[in-house]
This record gives sequence, C-alpha cells and structure tokens, in this order.
Amino acid sequence: MRFESFSFAPEILRAISECGYQKMTPVQQQAIPAIRRGQDVLASAQTGTGKTAAFALPILQKMIDKPSETQRSNTRALILTPTRELASQIADNINDYSKHMQVSVLTIYGGVKLETQAQKIKRGVDIIVATPGRLLEHIQACNLNLSNVDFMVLDEADRMLDMGFVSDIQKVLQAVNKNSQKMLFSATFSSSVKKLANDFLDKPKLISVDKQNTTADTVSQVVYPVEQRRKRELVSELIGKKNWKQVLIFTATRDAADKLVKELNLDGIPSSVVHGEKAQGNRRRALREFKEGKVRVLVATEVAARGLDIQDLEYVVNYDLPFLAEDYVHRIGRTGRAGKSGVAISLVSREEERTLADIEKLIGKKLPRITIAGYEVGSRDLLIKHLQTRRSFAKKQNRQDNVSEQVIGERNMQGRRVKVKNSSNAKIKKSK
Ligand code: AMP
Repeated sequence: MRFESFSFAPEILRAISECGYQKMTPVQQQAIPAIRRGQDVLASAQTGTGKTAAFALPILQKMIDKPSETQRSNTRALILTPTRELASQIADNINDYSKHMQVSVLTIYGGVKLETQAQKIKRGVDIIVATPGRLLEHIQACNLNLSNVDFMVLDEADRMLDMGFVSDIQKVLQAVNKNSQKMLFSATFSSSVKKLANDFLDKPKLISVDKQNTTADTVSQVVYPVEQRRKRELVSELIGKKNWKQVLIFTATRDAADKLVKELNLDGIPSSVVHGEKAQGNRRRALREFKEGKVRVLVATEVAARGLDIQDLEYVVNYDLPFLAEDYVHRIGRTGRAGKSGVAISLVSREEERTLADIEKLIGKKLPRITIAGYEVGSRDLLIKHLQTRRSFAKKQNRQDNVSEQVIGERNMQGRRVKVKNSSNAKIKKSK
C-alpha cells in the first residue's frame, strides 16, 4: 500500500518521497490509520520495521489538521526513548519527514548541559524526543510545561524498563496532559511492559507485525564455532577475505571493545568504537565515520548500540553472545531493516554454547553452524588426552615440570596477526 492512499498533506508526501519510501511497511499500514483516527496504540514492533514513521507521520499530519490553539512555546508531541542515539535518530527522522513544514524538534538527553537545553525549551519547541532521566530533571526544574502535549509516544518500552526507567517514566506521565493520545511501541512484551501499557493506554488498538521474539526473515543468521582466544583472528579474516564493508560488531564489555578496535586497526581494518565511557561527541563522530564509510567496522557494547540506525547495514557480528537471549533479537535487528537483506554472524565459543541454546529456543530455530578450517574448536576430551600424552612424554624425558603450563601457554598464545587490505574504495550508501 502506498502513502498516497492515506491522503497525507502534500508537504508530508513530498518529504516521504524524498526519503525514498514508496510503499508502507506493515506496521505503518496498521498504525497510521489508527493514530489518525485518534486511537491509542499498543504496537509490537521491533527496530527496523519502520515504526518511527508509523507514529511520526500521523502525528505530523494531525498537527497540520489541527494547528495548536495555544502559544507556540507549548510542546505538542513528546517521544520517550531509551538512549541518546535513538533519540537523535528519531529526531533526525522527524526532521526529514517535516522538512516542508514549520515544525521544531528538540532532543533532550543527558551528557549535554542542562542549561543549554533549558534555553532551547524556553524558545518554544513543537516536538520533544527525550530520554526519561534527563526529561524528568527538566520537569523537576520547572523548565518544561507538558500540559498541552497532544501526542505521547513510549518507544522501545521494553528497553526503557530494562534500563530501570520505570519510575522516571511514571513521573513523566504524571506531568503530561491526561487527555493526550498515547502510543506504546515495544519489541517484546514482558509482564512489566504489559502493566505499563495497562496503566498508560486507553482501549488501545493492538498492532503486531512480527511475532514476539522472532527475528526478521530478511536476516540470515549463522554461527561460527571458535575458541574465545581466536575470535579476533577469525573476525579479521572474515572481514578481510569476504570483503565485508560495513560491519557492526558487538562485544560483551567496554574493555573487550577497546581491545578489539585496536587489534582490527593493526590488522589494517579501519575501525571505531562506541561504548558508554566514550564522550557523546566521540560516539557521534564514530557513528558518522561509520555511516560515511570512513571506517569499515564499528565495535559497540550492548547499551551504546541501542537505537543505532544505519541504513543498509549488511553485517552484524556477535563477537560475544549477549547475556540475555532477548538481546540477540535486538542486536541482529540492526540489519535486514525495512525489507532489505542482512547477515548476522555469531562467533560462539564452547563456553557460550548454553547461551546459544537459549537463543535458539527463544527464536524457535536452530542456527546453522559453519566450522572454518583452521579454527576448529578442540573438544575438552581431546585437550585432556593431549595433556596426558604430554605429561607422560615429559615424565619419560624426566622433565615433569611446567608441562601443563606449556600447554596452557600454547593455548593462550596471541592469535596470528591477519593483514587485511584496506578497502577504502568501499561504496557505502550514506545514511541520513
Ligand atoms: P525504524 O524501524 O523506524 O528504525 O526504521 C528502520 C529504517 O527503515 C529506517 O532507516 C527508515 O528510514 C526506513 N523506513 C521506514 N519506513 C520506510 C518505508 N516505508 N520504506 C522504506 N524504508 C523505510
């Protein structure tokens, strides 16, 4: 179904067409008419389904249909979202969709001076996209009047609750106009999300575009079994040999992310890192360089990567599997967006097999395993046998000392350095 069938104003249709959108995605087909009718919405939709446009476009249309009766300084739409990156991304999208309208959009999140944001709020803003904690600070400092908000969106509600924002969200909701139209988007529906939806929404229209906890069909998923200590070497080899050009890699910790980036750069693969300890400016620069194709790899931790929207991202690599199986679904949602194809690769060590089993249970399918020659995972039995042989050999040689240390030393040897040609001529479609 095309956007024209929903009689959007010409300024919105023009912007949509300039974004290159032709047909509506399923969540847009269902959410747009409901929101335009004034219904509350409860949508089960994961990132990458086009959910931002699904709420932003009808909100913009309704702002045209019914211009504000109050002063311009009153905010009409409030969107709460878990991370700064996601807030920026949503604001960028809304700016794109409203570029032929007179609408101001402001992002509010931590890590930026409160006072600077307060001044911008005072000047008047139509749409606020915010993370809950910082927004609450402004509410408590009386910088913000939300009593005229007509539209309120909770985006990635499950993430916000996972990140411990529940009480902040509730306090924000108390400050918002009770008669506003409300929308809640979430990829998963835990009991706490259901409770929030119950408290927050009034007879919502239920929308579900993907079964809960399933992965998009457009993403092909594969597992490479490998020893933990050889993951770095394998990832360099895969990127180099297969000439992957835009790869998002997830690591379990900030330390691991920093180390990996260093190693990849040494291997000749231009890489950047985003994690919670990096300053906001650094994170933005890393993301920009990645989007522009100046670096081939972006290494990220779970939290930092939330909300990253990189168009046409083909490869997501789980260098370490996530602690929670649900996070696997979120991670690989970074690829295969809006119907495009993507590949999700998981490097799985022996110790991670159990987590992998949890993931497979959650997504309801077994993932194909590909063993790369030279990277076979030795079985524990083989390792023990190997140790025993060495020990008896050492005994014979009257060199009983340090045998196990030798073996362990061999296992801990740094991986080979993999020299990779820099594919600086990689053509990567620039994201908006
Ligand atoms: P979202 O789920 O909102 O993060 O959107 C995922 C990606 O899909 C973004 O890059 C959007 O720009 C893009 N997108 C949204 N709607 C459409 C559409 N109807 N056609 C093509 N791309 C879209």
